[in-house]
Amino acid sequence: MPFADLGLEAELLRAISVQGYTQPTPIQAQAIPEILQGRDVLAGAQTGTGKTAAFALPILQLLRAPSGHKTPRALVLTPTRELAAQVGESFNTYGQHVKLHTAIVFGGVGIQPQKDAMRRGLDIIVATPGRLLDHLGQGTVDLSSIEILVLDEADRMLDMGFIHDIKKVLARLPKQRQNLLFSATYSNDIKRLADGLLNHPKLIEIARKNVAADTVQQHVYHVEKSAKRDLLIHAINDGQWHQVLVFSRTKHGANRLAEQLNRSNIQAAAIHGNKSQSARTKALAGFKNGHVRVLVATDIAARGLDIELLPHVVNYELPNVPEDYVHRIGRTGRAGETGAAISLVSRDERKLLQDIQRLLKRELPVLPLPEFARSATPEPSKPQQRKANNSGRSHNGQPGQPRNRNAANGNVAEGTGGQRKRRSPNRSRAA
Ligand code: AMP
Repeated sequence: MPFADLGLEAELLRAISVQGYTQPTPIQAQAIPEILQGRDVLAGAQTGTGKTAAFALPILQLLRAPSGHKTPRALVLTPTRELAAQVGESFNTYGQHVKLHTAIVFGGVGIQPQKDAMRRGLDIIVATPGRLLDHLGQGTVDLSSIEILVLDEADRMLDMGFIHDIKKVLARLPKQRQNLLFSATYSNDIKRLADGLLNHPKLIEIARKNVAADTVQQHVYHVEKSAKRDLLIHAINDGQWHQVLVFSRTKHGANRLAEQLNRSNIQAAAIHGNKSQSARTKALAGFKNGHVRVLVATDIAARGLDIELLPHVVNYELPNVPEDYVHRIGRTGRAGETGAAISLVSRDERKLLQDIQRLLKRELPVLPLPEFARSATPEPSKPQQRKANNSGRSHNGQPGQPRNRNAANGNVAEGTGGQRKRRSPNRSRAA
């Protein structure tokens, strides 16, 4: 079905064709006509499905008719600064022929330019919840004219502990409005949020990336922890990889790995929540323009990064939550391109690998180790790990799995602050 059949106006179709999009993605084909009709939507779709355009295009069209207000009429809440920036850019890109103003509002940068933008008047705000509340507290934003609310990556916002912030924002919105909720997963918490928020929503579910991920070649190396770094360097050099996103479980681990790669003449940068916004933006820009060959990221920092045609993703450590594996490899093989995802799995991560394979409903093929990595000796488990695990060793004598991600490697994991619960196995997809 061509875009023109979805009911979009010529100005938007022009912007879409400049982007080179020829066909709507499934989420776009299903969501756009519903949103244009003013319906609430509950969409199960993750990054990489084209979900941003699925809400941005109809919002731009609905707001096109001037209301005479100078106050914003659409609000998009996102979990991370990077996602806010990307969603805001998408509004600007798709809305280039429409006279609407979008403000991007997130913390870690000066608040004054954001206040100035609000004062000049705007139509759409894309914001992270914390900074938006700062503006509300200072009286620098007026949400009394909001007609459309989007919660983007709602599951991640809840995982990051934003529920109270979201509720505070909701309390400041007019009761009469259109609500769009996008979430990759459908937990009881999301269901509760959706039940309280949405009015007879249209339910849309898009196949999960792991089901549709034929475009991502996934492989595993079984490797001792002590050999991971050399194996990564070997893989990058041998495969002549030029753009690699490497996932690290901790901020500290991300920094250390980036430093080690730089010492091995592989340009690398780390991106995580402790980095200033400008450092994160610079690292991402360097990665996109090819100056940075390897971006080492934590899950939270990488969430929602829109890096087109990303060819390689490496799990330097496996995530504790199997669904995060799916989010991670969703960075590659996007929009029909092929990509490769490689996981370096040490002895104490075997159980995590099993969980991931159970979720994927298949075994991941194992690659043979190069000679140098075969001779690496097993590392004794660290005292912190034994402590975190209580029993220290499982019945088969292997080092046990740390119970939570904060205990892994003795480092504090990024962003979750220990609030994040392991998802229950029966956590199902969004309906
Ligand atoms: P998203 O899921 O919104 O993060 O989008 C994922 C990627 O798909 C982005 O790089 C978009 O530019 C791209 N994209 C969105 N819609 C389309 C489309 N209809 N055809 C091709 N690419 C698209």
